[in-house]
Amino acid sequence: MAAEIKAPAYRVFPIAPAVQPGAMAETKSFVASDKIQEALGFPGQLVEDWHDRAIAKMGDLLEKYRSFKVFMDACVHCGACSDKCHYFIGSGDPKNMPVARQDLMRSVYRRHFTLPGKYFPKLVGARDLTREVLDEWYSYFYQCSECRRCSVFCPYGIDTAEITMAAREILDSVGYGQKYSNEIIGKVHKIGNNLGLPGPALADTLEGLEEDVKDACGVDVRFPLDVKGAEVLLVTPSADFFAEPHIDSLIGYGKVFHAAGISWTVSSMASEAGNFGMFIGNYEQLRKIALRVREAALELGVKRIVVGECGHAWRVAYSFWNTLTGIGAGADDPYAIQLQSQLDHSYKQPMHICELTWDLIERKVITLDPEANDKYVVTFHDSCNVARGSNMGDFFGGQFEIPRNIIKAAANHFVEMADGTTREQTFCCGGGGGLLTDDLLDLRIKGSLPRMEALQQVVDEHKVNFMACICAICKAQFTKVLPYYGFDRRVVGGVHQLVSNAIRLGDK
Ligand code: SF4
Ligand code: SF4
Repeated sequence: MAAEIKAPAYRVFPIAPAVQPGAMAETKSFVASDKIQEALGFPGQLVEDWHDRAIAKMGDLLEKYRSFKVFMDACVHCGACSDKCHYFIGSGDPKNMPVARQDLMRSVYRRHFTLPGKYFPKLVGARDLTREVLDEWYSYFYQCSECRRCSVFCPYGIDTAEITMAAREILDSVGYGQKYSNEIIGKVHKIGNNLGLPGPALADTLEGLEEDVKDACGVDVRFPLDVKGAEVLLVTPSADFFAEPHIDSLIGYGKVFHAAGISWTVSSMASEAGNFGMFIGNYEQLRKIALRVREAALELGVKRIVVGECGHAWRVAYSFWNTLTGIGAGADDPYAIQLQSQLDHSYKQPMHICELTWDLIERKVITLDPEANDKYVVTFHDSCNVARGSNMGDFFGGQFEIPRNIIKAAANHFVEMADGTTREQTFCCGGGGGLLTDDLLDLRIKGSLPRMEALQQVVDEHKVNFMACICAICKAQFTKVLPYYGFDRRVVGGVHQLVSNAIRLGDK
């Protein structure tokens, strides 16, 4: 633990913090190198004519995305969003208020794209895009996890996440990209996953996992790789293959498939559910990453595509895969049409692993023994992108109910965290949206404050000792920040980790 970084104290009352201007002004994630930038087709370094190019790019985005233009014009500065961001709550920096973050962009928009801003800039809060402003964009648009919590409270539905994505897209286009996100995207293009885990290493890992599970429970649970003709292609975050506690959920998925008798496979070509193309707001990168899944599905001839526990991956799969790839209806290029005729449409395409597991539990195809988790008092952390960017099942709010239903089937003791911190109002873990990097550790610790406060409350009142979630980033972030708040890092785990403990694989 870095000695100089400390968690902020819990608030006595969960109200807006005292404002500390400039508190996070120096916080900046590492800038991408030439090599990382150029691998994605972006300029290697800040280009000489960055000002004109940035304004031109902004103009393009305003034309392309009507929502972006509406968000630039619609804000009435009512302040309803100002205390809703976990980074403002944790840091007190007023530029981390959602409305102030938006205004970093809006002030430049006014100067260059509105008549009053051109002629009376001072009167309407318009300002030129100077180098100082560009640096401020880089700092504060990489202090937004694109969690969309603020948009829930905005009477006009203004989505700060979309403004952040536009800002990052502009920054990349002038050669001012973020090392963490862009390096990861490069690894997916080159190797197939965020971690740069090559096919042979993945094969070894899965083989080792089969042995470990056999030793632990005496059953031959398979973790197949690149099996042609399997019914299900599982696309899961690469952290599931080796990180703790992620791997325990992978074991859970394997046991579910085993107990239900469903043939499945992982793909070495699409060994990553995560799609950081969304975080940098770049459609081409988003599509290129998603197309690896289509290519793998076509090559393996699978009938179903199931997505593992990953928040933003499920948002991309649920909301965008149809038009990006033809998984679901939407795209109409020849490969999309081929894939649509290959997939079995009596199942949802794509399907979340929680939807699959809950359906099997409801139909009594698999049985869980909840007493296997009696040592736990469980709570559930809703992940932002699942909560505010997707759904599950075929009813409103399924993304909240289905994971909870699974937990209640797998464990006898479940309690909710406080209202206002769960479901659509859930707080980000503090590490989403491309911020899960150690160069932003201070921000991540501060940003997790509201979630840690809510967790502390159920620990004190109900002795909660397991916080389940369905997101690889949440798991990694909490594992890192929990000790700063005095918790054991093993408090966090996956929903399918509980399933893994409870599932009946043979006789009871
Ligand atoms: S999207 Fe989330 S991180 Fe970004 S400003 Fe809104 S609340 Fe803060
Ligand atoms: S809640 Fe909406 S309208 Fe009000 S200040 Fe925030 S973004 Fe602007």
